[in-house]
Amino acid sequence: MTNLEVRPVPELSDLAPTHGPVTELHEARDVPLGGVRAMRVRRTLPQRTLPMVGAWCFLDEFGPQHVDMRVLPHPHTGLQTVTWPVVGQILHRDSVGSDVVVRPGQLNLMTAGRGVSHSEFSVGAAPMLHGVQLWAALPDGVAEGAAGFEQVVDLPVWESPRARATVLVGSLDGTRSPAHVHTPLLGAQIEVDPGADVEIPLVRELEHAVLLLGGTAEVAGTPHTTSGLLHLGDGRDHVRVRSRDGARLLLLGGAPFEHDLVMWWNFVGRTHADVAQARADWESVDRRTERFGVVAGHDGARIPAPDLPNLRLRPRRRLPRTPEEHA
Ligand code: MN
Repeated sequence: MTNLEVRPVPELSDLAPTHGPVTELHEARDVPLGGVRAMRVRRTLPQRTLPMVGAWCFLDEFGPQHVDMRVLPHPHTGLQTVTWPVVGQILHRDSVGSDVVVRPGQLNLMTAGRGVSHSEFSVGAAPMLHGVQLWAALPDGVAEGAAGFEQVVDLPVWESPRARATVLVGSLDGTRSPAHVHTPLLGAQIEVDPGADVEIPLVRELEHAVLLLGGTAEVAGTPHTTSGLLHLGDGRDHVRVRSRDGARLLLLGGAPFEHDLVMWWNFVGRTHADVAQARADWESVDRRTERFGVVAGHDGARIPAPDLPNLRLRPRRRLPRTPEEHA
């Protein structure tokens, strides 16, 4: 997926760190993705009030709707992407040679490293699509490393009497995904049965958030019936989920991201200069292929980068600045 919302998230640097449990619902905003049929998504990360959840730095939900997804080749840097359809199938092609159909229940994890490009097209004519796209920022070292793609067809499932959790990345109560991530991170899709009242085990050191993908549920004592992202903070060893009619939830978790993060368009870097260079490389006939490779099958068609904003992009951070950094 590509991010056409190119205004930078303003001034996130002086947010207080979260310590301890919270239950804060952060409403989604409606964002047009462009294209012929103007697919729209509901974006819950990043937000001014919630820039990241661990290393998770981007969360879009699309559908359910009948729509053609047609996202031409576009670049990424410094992050991993997860395209997670709940309904529908998406053809993913990328510059490391992947040409796969992304199906519900299977993990498709693309690592951008220093540079990757990919395209995403729905399968069939105006199919019913519902799902999410997630980005996780990469830490130093890996963020400048090689691109890659990993598909996990059989994800592990944690089970309790009234709930099941498919673990996309990380580990839930000892049920561990084999996928390779680079910071302490959790992504799980949880199905709770009608009438369920269950405790989902969490790790106290991670902060967590929950997106409702279907049904209705009360999460940590808070009714969760919208498309917003319910931030749970950290310091919890479980979260209680109750549902009268059943629900499907996306549970995210992660350790606070320790590096500076500048995110603009489809690029994650540490500084303004990083993303400006990535943009220049994507627009350069000479450097594009060297850095971002080629996605086969598109005859060179691609999404050009928008203009950089006329201001200096500054890192978002969760932690307060130290006095030296103000100097
Ligand atoms: Mn993308």
